[in-house]
Amino acid sequence: MSIQHSSDMSTESFSTGLVHPQRVTDKLLATHGYVVGIEISSSGLRQSVALANLDGDILFRISRPLEVVPDSATVLQQLEAILAEVTSPERLVDGRILRVGIAVGGLVDASRGMVRRLYHAHGWSDFPLQDYFTERFDAPCIIDNNANAAALAEYHRGAGIAERVILYVGLGRGIGGGLIINGKIYHGVNSMAGEIGHMLVKEQGPRCSCGGYGHLEAIASARAIISTTLGLSVEATETHAAIMRLTHDRAERLTVAQVFQLADEGDRVAQRTVSDVHTSLGIALANIVHLVNPSVIILGGSVAQAGDLLVKPVEQQIHQLCLPEVCQDLKVVQGHLGVDASLVGAVTLALQDL
Ligand SMILES: [Zn+2]
Repeated sequence: MSIQHSSDMSTESFSTGLVHPQRVTDKLLATHGYVVGIEISSSGLRQSVALANLDGDILFRISRPLEVVPDSATVLQQLEAILAEVTSPERLVDGRILRVGIAVGGLVDASRGMVRRLYHAHGWSDFPLQDYFTERFDAPCIIDNNANAAALAEYHRGAGIAERVILYVGLGRGIGGGLIINGKIYHGVNSMAGEIGHMLVKEQGPRCSCGGYGHLEAIASARAIISTTLGLSVEATETHAAIMRLTHDRAERLTVAQVFQLADEGDRVAQRTVSDVHTSLGIALANIVHLVNPSVIILGGSVAQAGDLLVKPVEQQIHQLCLPEVCQDLKVVQGHLGVDASLVGAVTLALQDL
């Protein structure tokens, strides 16, 4: 069924369902069950679980971090504890859990329901996560990469409604991309389409989490932005003082928003970091635009919370680097779902074809 807000659901459908339940065969009503959305972050260090009705409205959710570098058993153990709270019997007053959707911040083979790899975590190579949760819930489960899930969520409920070709760019700890064409995720032959974080954007650039050099993720991810700024500030007295002021002497707590703020206030080091982010994103996205001719590029994840300080310069770079005819109708926007896009995406995955 299509995803809509509960407020959109007519009273008539409600009463029809209650009075003539036999008629409700082609359309499940929001009172007839639930879906569960699960997000496993790219490092496995944070898990989120949401209980949603069949309109996709999240009724209850929990996010919890892990303090240790996790293996798959530890992550699943923690998830089990969160699931017990989120899906406790008193919350399931209107039916049972019909579907489970999982957004995973790693390499996912959606067609086989496998996690191929999580960076910085152990025990996830070719892990059959879909089968694991199908058995756990005795309900169909669908898994996908978190950027694909977020892209689908923005298409149904966010900045990409009614757009025909969407490129979603998830700029978080890592960088992922999701391509939605005519309402469907484009997966590619091995479900690996959209791994744009590993596009080469700078020769002899910094080292990436994958071991390569000069990849987009090594320059424009939240982790890269923070570590580059802190690294450069060691030899820049003014920047160092500004960081200490903003973070109350705890430089390790510097946020991406603060780096963009410093750049906006004229700090040279922050400006250099942010300018590299704009340039590398501009190069990567202009190349993709020439290939797929999207109608909208949606920037999401924690880095995109910088808003116009990120979106406008990146849009400008793309227009400078693209043939005018290729990008004449292109919009570049900030995602509407913010850092929740992946969790909303997990719920959206669960609702597909329901
Ligand atoms: Zn890489």
